[in-house]
Amino acid sequence: MNIPANSPTLRSWIEVPANSDFPIQNIPFGVGSVDGIESTAYTRIGDQAIDLFKLYEMGLIPSYADEDGTEYVGSLNVLLLGGREPIRALRQRLSELLRTGQDMKVIQQIKKALVPVSELTMDLPVDIGDYTDFYSSRQHAYNVGCMFRDPANALLPNWLHMPVGYHGRASSIVVSGTPIRRPMGQFKPNPEAAPEFGPTRQLDLELEVGFITYEGKPLGERISTAEAEEHIFGLVLFNDWSARDIQAWEYVPLGPFLGKNFGSSMSAWVVTLDALEPFRVASPKQEPEVLPYLKGAPNMHFDIALEVGLKPSGGAESIICRSNFKHLYWSMAQQLAHHTVNGCNVFAGDLMASGTISGDTPDSYGSLLELAWKGTKPVKLSDGSERKFIQDGDTIVIRGHCERDGVRIGFGEVSGEILPAN
Ligand code: CA
Repeated sequence: MNIPANSPTLRSWIEVPANSDFPIQNIPFGVGSVDGIESTAYTRIGDQAIDLFKLYEMGLIPSYADEDGTEYVGSLNVLLLGGREPIRALRQRLSELLRTGQDMKVIQQIKKALVPVSELTMDLPVDIGDYTDFYSSRQHAYNVGCMFRDPANALLPNWLHMPVGYHGRASSIVVSGTPIRRPMGQFKPNPEAAPEFGPTRQLDLELEVGFITYEGKPLGERISTAEAEEHIFGLVLFNDWSARDIQAWEYVPLGPFLGKNFGSSMSAWVVTLDALEPFRVASPKQEPEVLPYLKGAPNMHFDIALEVGLKPSGGAESIICRSNFKHLYWSMAQQLAHHTVNGCNVFAGDLMASGTISGDTPDSYGSLLELAWKGTKPVKLSDGSERKFIQDGDTIVIRGHCERDGVRIGFGEVSGEILPAN
């Protein structure tokens, strides 16, 4: 598909630093505020954010909702109600306004809507109604199965037949930069003894990528794999913080609960599916053959390089993992088709995360559980210290970007520092 806003030859009249994730071909969407004034929607070029509500007030972009620009105030949920076509048109309009060759009078007007990103306090881009977490990396599922069961039966019998997932907790999802408090809970360090209560001793990260939906279909109807892309707005980086000791003791029989819902961190800028189009790659061959309702999806994997940094308090950051979004076994289209095949409804602004994305080499595993292999191979940091799990004061940073034909499209980062338990 030809998307004019993606043309590699486009340049902006706003300066784009070398290796920026945000050239004019990106045009991401986010929500932020300056000096505590009401939050509005923004896009971003280089290190400048552009206030979309101001552009609306100047008459430079239309209102797609109520003709009063309310969709540019607060979260992006109202903007997403119209689905893919209005967003595609808005992104194209912004591309035209921000590219070189634009009329000087218009440029002078737009300059009044610019805010340096450093002066902007970002919020979550959407009010997340529901959050679902999948488990779609085969290597991750295999690694966890090896550690907690045995290599011969690492994948559970259902894993190759459906994108396994669970309903997470939306209330504790926070935007990048928000500190996370080490959770308290119950765990069982000694399998023979009674459970104990205290701060988790096995705090972990999970390298994930999430997608945010447009409005789905009414309750009782399903979204097919072929229709899935019409219902996906864009992608974000996601850290699904996990307390492994709490998780291990609580998860049978109903699955993840307090080991997961104390906090999840999300990047602030949503990169649209349209902006990622040039980086689409073939989906992996699936064996055994999947059921018909999971077939028929377009190739819906994207070549997004991902990395995880760990920065001790006051110390230098070490990169502890390099992975890629294309390593997923189940595609976003299959996830959404599976999620709705029973008639479950989806709303604009829902979040679905991929599950930990592990590649097939030990340096590409997307959690400390796997990188340090259940504590048996501690990860060495550049300051000489080691980690089996995350310590208080550690900051975890996840970054992601695509690159092709001289164009780099990225997400910025999602970061969070771990504070001591209360
Ligand atoms: Ca997860």
